Amino acid sequence: MAPLARQINCGTELCHNIGVKAPDSLQRFLFEHAAIRGELVHLDTAWQAVLDRHDYPPPVRDLLGELMAAAALLSNILKFDGSLILQIQGRGPVSLLVVESTSQHTLRGMAQWTGDPQPSSFPELVGDGRFVITIDPKGKAQRYQGIVELEGDTVAAALENYLTRSEQLDSRLWLAADTRQAAGMLLQKMPGKTDEDHDLWDRAIQLGATLRRDELLALPAGEIIHRLYHEEDIRLFESQPVQFHCGCTRERVANALRLLGYNEIQSILEERGAIDVDCEFCNQHYTFDKVDAEQLFAAESSRPASPTRH
Ligand SMILES: [Zn+2]
Repeated sequence: MAPLARQINCGTELCHNIGVKAPDSLQRFLFEHAAIRGELVHLDTAWQAVLDRHDYPPPVRDLLGELMAAAALLSNILKFDGSLILQIQGRGPVSLLVVESTSQHTLRGMAQWTGDPQPSSFPELVGDGRFVITIDPKGKAQRYQGIVELEGDTVAAALENYLTRSEQLDSRLWLAADTRQAAGMLLQKMPGKTDEDHDLWDRAIQLGATLRRDELLALPAGEIIHRLYHEEDIRLFESQPVQFHCGCTRERVANALRLLGYNEIQSILEERGAIDVDCEFCNQHYTFDKVDAEQLFAAESSRPASPTRH
């Protein structure tokens, strides 16, 4: 089904609507008669939900917010039904950034760090590291994982490198986050098409680069698009809501515990009396006592042979 679309052109009634900022929303747009698509995301409540659960040092917070905005943008462009997980695994003060975005437009994210990271460049904060992108489709479809070395001075540049090298998708990203919101804009050349207007891609990027960080965070999506591209023929799609949601359940935690094996679980129980698991995304607490732990393996005939973890 074709998505609802509308044009923005100066002088039309739609220009009156572009100044309204929709919180927690994704806004797709298309350069008409060209092979370029774009998208903007603003995260407000969804971002606050992440910040309410952990007290992140500002440099960690900003990287996590940028990655969260990026995940929302990418999952809306990649056509799949399931989850997209972006991970930055670093060897610097910031050791892990994880964001999951689903095709239902839900997001969750968390970060791990050591010490007290001070404001510094992205390469200094994460050190040498890897970008891991996982697409986990619903049902029986194959899980896909791409891993590349981290390259680039920003989260956006690292992701652009990944998209260009691994997916052959020419893309530009602008990302920003602060204590109140996270936001991002994506421009992408659509695969398999060429533009009659050869300069359009370069022009679109140059105009995108004029967008200041504070403007990206504060301005409504429609106003940003109008400001940057009012001389182009742009099709603006209906904006889509985005929200924070953590998909953790007791059942999923139980499945993870089963992977540890019966002997490992027994040894934790002997040491601590119960198994306590906190979800790092939403802080939900799960406890498994001895009776619960027995039930984890009750249905498994292979219990005596279950492997120990090394
Ligand atoms: Zn959770």
